[in-house]
Amino acid sequence: MILELIKADITEIKADAIVNAANSSLLGGGGVDGAIHRKGGKAILEACMAIRDKQGKCKTGNAVITMAGNLPAKYVIHTVGPVWNGDSEEKNALLADCYRNSLTLAVENGVKIIAFPNISTGIYHFPKEKAADIAINTVNNFAEKGKIEKVIFVCFDDENYQRYLEKLK
Ligand code: ADP
Repeated sequence: MILELIKADITEIKADAIVNAANSSLLGGGGVDGAIHRKGGKAILEACMAIRDKQGKCKTGNAVITMAGNLPAKYVIHTVGPVWNGDSEEKNALLADCYRNSLTLAVENGVKIIAFPNISTGIYHFPKEKAADIAINTVNNFAEKGKIEKVIFVCFDDENYQRYLEKLK
């Protein structure tokens, strides 16, 4: 499994799947979620609504998959990151769950190339240093990593990019 780092807008990435840092409503929001729904178009929202009708809201740490509408990617994997409100093992574990459950869904759907944003480090205020460690460690320790060809860490802000660059060296 190759790990790649880029500074980019994830809505422009042509991967088999891009991951969305969604919220539990699955109905869109700010940050990367807003960008994905805006550019991806209403097909993504409709698919999310159908999932909600079937299984209710998406719990923190869980992930669901939809098609990617007008985006260059094939699928969007929507995962709900934890809201940071002070250091706790539980929040760390939930952020790791986001990466692991997204990768599991990717494998189940034959995804070979997957792009992740820096989940929870925007509106949800997870500390960037800790979030980067969790993201990289969870991806590296993923049990079925032989089934994924490439994981792309897509950083949007320079601070996250510099941290990942340091850690992935
Ligand atoms: P959360 O609610 O999980 O914190 P945000 O979307 O607010 O989600 O932020 C998560 C990360 O996504 C942040 O590091 C932010 O800089 C980044 N981000 C925002 N827009 C984009 C985008 N278009 N492409 C990639 N990353 C983005």
